Amino acid sequence: MIITNCIAKIVVRIAQWLIPNRGIQAATYYPFIFMWPPENAKVDWRVFHEKVHYEQWKRYWIIGYVFVSLYYYMKYGYWNHPFEIEARERTAEFIKYKPNV
Ligand SMILES: [Zn+2]
Repeated sequence: MIITNCIAKIVVRIAQWLIPNRGIQAATYYPFIFMWPPENAKVDWRVFHEKVHYEQWKRYWIIGYVFVSLYYYMKYGYWNHPFEIEARERTAEFIKYKPNV
């Protein structure tokens, strides 16, 4: 479920504060995808990227995602986080086959 209201603004602002200078404009906390500004929800590749994270939450049975994701974040930071790498690579593939998004 994609959320683009004032709650999304708060969640994304907190994510930006926690992980500065990374241009974060969305955050996925299963089962919600928070996107701010709201126009981001109309950008297919941004939604696709967050849906990869949504899948990751399910793959690790939600609670496992929290621990694995935190472990990876401490070990690799944000940019080299394996979940981010997977999401970036799959988004790049998505854009390659749908270049007009
Ligand atoms: Zn991401």
